[in-house]
Amino acid sequence: MTPERILLIGLDGMTFDIMKPLAEQGIMPTCHDLMQRGSWGVLRSTIPPLTGPAWTSFYTGKMPGNHGLFDFFKPSAVDNAVGIGRRLINSREVDGRALWHVLSDHDKTSLVLNVPVTYPPSKIKGAMFTGMLTPSVQGNLTYPEGLYPKYQPELGDYTITINWQSYSEHDAHRFVQDLIHCQHQRTRYTARLMDDWPDWNLCFPCFTETDRIQHALWHYIDPVEIEKLKQEGRYDESVRELVLEFYRQCDEDIRVLIEKAGGTDNVPVFFVSDHGFGPLRGKVMMNHFFAQQGLLAAKQAKVRQAILMILWRKAYQKALKSVGLLKWYKARQARAVTTRVSGAAKTIYDIFYESIDWNRTKVYLGSNTEGALYMNVKGRGLYGDVDPGIIEPEDYLTVRAEIINALKSIRHPDTGKPMLTYVGTREEAYPGKYCDIAPDIVFFFDDGAWLGDFQLGKGAFKPSDWKTGSGTHRLDGCFLACGPGIAQNRGGINTEIWNVTPTLLGYMGLPVPAEMDGKFIGDAFTDEWKAAHPVQYLEPGEDSGAGEVSGADVFDADDQEVLVDRLRGLGYLD
Ligand SMILES: [Zn+2]
Repeated sequence: MTPERILLIGLDGMTFDIMKPLAEQGIMPTCHDLMQRGSWGVLRSTIPPLTGPAWTSFYTGKMPGNHGLFDFFKPSAVDNAVGIGRRLINSREVDGRALWHVLSDHDKTSLVLNVPVTYPPSKIKGAMFTGMLTPSVQGNLTYPEGLYPKYQPELGDYTITINWQSYSEHDAHRFVQDLIHCQHQRTRYTARLMDDWPDWNLCFPCFTETDRIQHALWHYIDPVEIEKLKQEGRYDESVRELVLEFYRQCDEDIRVLIEKAGGTDNVPVFFVSDHGFGPLRGKVMMNHFFAQQGLLAAKQAKVRQAILMILWRKAYQKALKSVGLLKWYKARQARAVTTRVSGAAKTIYDIFYESIDWNRTKVYLGSNTEGALYMNVKGRGLYGDVDPGIIEPEDYLTVRAEIINALKSIRHPDTGKPMLTYVGTREEAYPGKYCDIAPDIVFFFDDGAWLGDFQLGKGAFKPSDWKTGSGTHRLDGCFLACGPGIAQNRGGINTEIWNVTPTLLGYMGLPVPAEMDGKFIGDAFTDEWKAAHPVQYLEPGEDSGAGEVSGADVFDADDQEVLVDRLRGLGYLD
């Protein structure tokens, strides 16, 4: 029998490294029960393991090389002095149909809440609240339109995301309480959607609070890091208690949703995360390194000017905050970006791209989220009519090999050991239709414990602190499935994120579209179920059609500024 409905819970950044011990200790009893009754294991993320491309791979069943998104940003022609920069991604640029679009084709109802890269919302059978990269709850974040003003008076405020950087290090209590509240709110909104669409077939709330707490307070989550805190005399038992309370409440929200959906005996439950987590040791200032290697040239006067501008802006904002005028300033700043009347309104990205001498630069890290490098090759067309390229296409492979060798020479600031633990070319990391617009080189330092940082003028390395967070993403996320036909108490699942959507479709008895890279995760199911339910994979041409890629920039300048600010608030930018 195939299930009529599935409850799918997104837990951003969750890993069994956290969930398993908490489940065994009785802090996450619902998760413990599901693990015993279901199949679970590692869900490998995209490379690098980034929220934007990873959730997109999840919901399209495609690898990034085929859905076309590699970061929160895309190289793009922008309105600054050099015409080169980055633009935020949105749901209309995704090449591929999402799980809920395919379900709509089969007349199935989906309830989708808070999934990253779903803004602007799209028409589906069912309802949607868009997630991360939604500019504001004041705009249109729902399908059908107007759900938020309809629910808000009864259910209270809904938050798109909570940034730990808007809290001080000494205010961890308020931060975690706010996360707990935010997660309860998502649960209440999801329950309301279930009430209003009682014939739902897929209910998919995505909790991003797990990611936020792990970025900010990994040192209170990971036993090894806790031990270090204790040795350094910096351990605060009350923060640890609060962290445990967060996971207790997270488990409680999951329990409430399962109960609301009809209980585990009646509805299959799936968990999915976009990536795993581990400690963050610090940042490697990549463009500083390339400048030292003669692979990048910066206009020094511009860099100095940029540093001064950033320092001035920070001091100014601090002063405004102290007199309660920061909101007014940010609104003015957003207006200034729109009309380009004020040099002070430049984003940190504009400043960086204007600081680069493009005639003497072969490679660069273009954003802090990218984790990958772009080479300055002639005739690429990544920036519209602006072609900064200096590398001749026939020299591409030689120069790329030189850059990879340079990366291998980077040594740990404390131990002196080589830091590079993974390097991949775009052909290796991003096979597919969009390989030729993908970053040229992808890398991990120290298995992901050190991230690349794009800013110039800040030295070679920057150790982690409250602002950068103590944790960051890893490749191994989590997958769990529990329901009829699913093997019981089976750990050790090992699969890729783009396989989950084909699995959900196959489980519901629906064919897997030809354009999906993913395959049904057979390891999670019993032999009897698989024998009775062969999964059908459509051939090209049998499909209802591929996704529409409008490529349109749906964010106006105000939106861009707000969203960039929010990413900065998540520790992604500076
Ligand atoms: Zn994430």
